[in-house]
Amino acid sequence: MIDESPVHVGGVKACKKQEIRTGMNLFTNKIIIALGIVSLSLAQSCALIRSDIDETCVAEFADQYPASEESRFVLPWQVGHAYQLTQGNCTFESHSLSNNQHMSFDFKMPIGTPILAADDGRVFIVVDQHRDNIDTGFDEANYIGIEHSGGILTWYLHLTFEGSAVQVDDQVSRGETIGYSGNTGDSSYPHLHFFAQQLIDECRDAEAKTANLALCPQVPMSFSNASPNDAVLKEWVTYKALPNQR
Ligand SMILES: [Zn+2]
Repeated sequence: MIDESPVHVGGVKACKKQEIRTGMNLFTNKIIIALGIVSLSLAQSCALIRSDIDETCVAEFADQYPASEESRFVLPWQVGHAYQLTQGNCTFESHSLSNNQHMSFDFKMPIGTPILAADDGRVFIVVDQHRDNIDTGFDEANYIGIEHSGGILTWYLHLTFEGSAVQVDDQVSRGETIGYSGNTGDSSYPHLHFFAQQLIDECRDAEAKTANLALCPQVPMSFSNASPNDAVLKEWVTYKALPNQR
C-alpha cells in the first residue's frame, strides 16, 4: 500500500512571480524529510519562458528512454488531441535532479481536459478538493496516482477541482479517462504535470507498508502513440496522441 504522496512544486515558468521561494515536498500522513526545493522565478512578463536545460542530467539519462514504439505508456490525453510540452525533463528548478522531478513533463492544456491513464493499473491515491487558479502552494494541488505492474507509478498533477473520475483501488485501463486537468496547487497556468516513478527497496518501507516517494527514482518515459514519435519529448513541441498500436 502506498499512502503518502509528494505534493508537487512545479510548472512555474510563467509570469508574475519574482520572489525566491523555498518549499518542501510534503506528505499527507507521515512526516518524511524530503528534498528542499527552491523555485526561482525569473520572468516578469506573462509569456512562458523556455527552461534552462541541465545538460549533465540529459547526458545521464539519455540512453535510458525506451524507443517510443516499445513504450508501455500512451500520452495521457485523448487520441487526436495535441498539447504543447511547456517544460521537459532535466530542466532546472522545478524539473531537476535536486528535487527528484527531473523526468517530469508539463503539458499546457485548458482546465477540464480529459486525462487518461498512461497504462493499465490500480489507482492508489486521489486528491481533488482543491480549487483552481489560486496558486497558493505546495500542498493544494489535486492529483491522481496509479500503480502499474513492475512497481511503476504514474502521477497526474494540478487536476481541476473535483476533477477525478476514479476512486482509490479502482482498476483502470490504458487510455481510460481518470480525471480532468486543472490549475491547482503551485501552478501558474493550466497544465498537467506528469511523471513516473519506480518503487524500489530504498523507497519502500515494508514495515509500515508505505513508501517514501520522494526517494523513489523517476523513470524516463517515452510514449507509444506520440506524434512526432520522439523518444525524448522536446520542450516547445506540440505532441498529438495517435491511436495506440499496441
Ligand atoms: Zn511540472
